[in-house]
Amino acid sequence: MICDNIEQVRNTVREAALRSGRNPDAVKIVAVSKHVSVTRVTAAQSCGQIVFGENYLQEAAEKISQISEPVTWHFIGHLQTNKAAAAAELFQMIQTVDRLKIATALNTHAERIGKYLDVLIQVNVGREAQKSGVLPENAEGLLRDLQSLAHLRVRGLMTMPPYGRDSEESRLWFRALKQLALQLAEEELFYDNSTVELSMGLSGDFAVAVEEGATMIRIGTAIFGERKE
Ligand SMILES: *Cc1c(COP(=O)(O)O)cnc(C)c1O
Repeated sequence: MICDNIEQVRNTVREAALRSGRNPDAVKIVAVSKHVSVTRVTAAQSCGQIVFGENYLQEAAEKISQISEPVTWHFIGHLQTNKAAAAAELFQMIQTVDRLKIATALNTHAERIGKYLDVLIQVNVGREAQKSGVLPENAEGLLRDLQSLAHLRVRGLMTMPPYGRDSEESRLWFRALKQLALQLAEEELFYDNSTVELSMGLSGDFAVAVEEGATMIRIGTAIFGERKE
């Protein structure tokens, strides 16, 4: 069941990539495993799923301790400063950096444990009051501030656009994120300006995200089924 779902997501990614003249291999599937048991994560792992995304630190810590490599873990939830040390230790990538304070805390701890931490900047493209993320016009300033944090590698941008009934409603938000990433790359503000990651697209709209240039899609429901939250 989980393997069939993953296979279906892969096929949809492949078709969307080919439709838009992109290489399907340039799109990483992040399986979002919040509220998903270790058994089911392991099932996904057994069908070749490598990257998993978690939203809650405590839940993630328990899972990560029970699942062996080569799985890699991305943090995709809201991060508080007092949890930065744990996050820096547990995760290979933090996708939700949106302010200097949290970046500084992550950098300090990464340095302490001798690690280089990949991060994405979360952008609030839809300017929604209830959502985390830096506003698009403040992204450049934040990235400039992050240049001095030697243990963070800013790989790209992430977004969670306004909810729309129709996946087509997400298209302009995805386009806006890509546009912003191109501008920032032009200013050479990423760790690798020739390969900038764009984490965008969920179960409902990932085909559109791939068409618009996503390099990472974050898929929960379409892989593991509906969550009870
Ligand atoms: C839960 C979550 C997802 C996955 O959403 P689905 O609609 O279940 O695919 C993706 N990104 C973030 C940040 C999430 O919190």
